[in-house]
Amino acid sequence: MGFEKLKEEVWLANKELAESGLVILTWGNVSGVDRDAGVVAIKPSGVDYDDLVPEDIVVLSIDNGEVIEGSLRPSSDTPSHLLLYQEFKSIGGVVHTHSTYATSWAQAGRELPCFGTTHADYFYGPVPLTRNLTLEEIKHEYERNTGKVIVERFLEGDVSPDEVPGVLVPNHGVFSWGKDTMAALETSIVLEEVAKMALYTILLNPQADDIHQALLDKHFLRKHGPGAYYGQEQQ
Ligand SMILES: [Zn+2]
Repeated sequence: MGFEKLKEEVWLANKELAESGLVILTWGNVSGVDRDAGVVAIKPSGVDYDDLVPEDIVVLSIDNGEVIEGSLRPSSDTPSHLLLYQEFKSIGGVVHTHSTYATSWAQAGRELPCFGTTHADYFYGPVPLTRNLTLEEIKHEYERNTGKVIVERFLEGDVSPDEVPGVLVPNHGVFSWGKDTMAALETSIVLEEVAKMALYTILLNPQADDIHQALLDKHFLRKHGPGAYYGQEQQ
């Protein structure tokens, strides 16, 4: 059985990631999942976005990462993506980038504060920063451990991946996700934009206040959750 539809979707999202300006060279990757089939599809390692065709997308088992379809080696970040799908059961797409503004916050070792409604429309609070990986975690199974510290940060901080669909990894970059690959891509674009706004905010006023809780509630909850009323009803 082929996974043409999933591969096409993941291919398109990777092409759009390249066009979004969030990545340069071959950095960054998008994956998608088919939970009924138990598979994840991801960009191959080190292939130019211009040369990428749907057949290049690698399909693997969500449980053990074994390649099911595809002749190229999957992205080296695959174990991080797999762990996120295994632990965050509701997500359908994952994007990883080193986009400039969001990564600057990560490199500065700072979570991304919620200063305004642009942020609040997508993230119900600050975008968290994980802890540093230990020496052991860097030496062995580095990519899987990157996924592990992300999951740990959400569990220990009692943060829901549905309410905060992104994270910063110190000295590294950004992971974001959504209900499917396109939603994950949109999250990564918004995350970069709000990281840029937040940087200018603290440059202009280092004492700038976080958004008021009532405004955060209003903006996040009118778009997400049972009482959502923003936009058009889903068919
Ligand atoms: Zn990376």
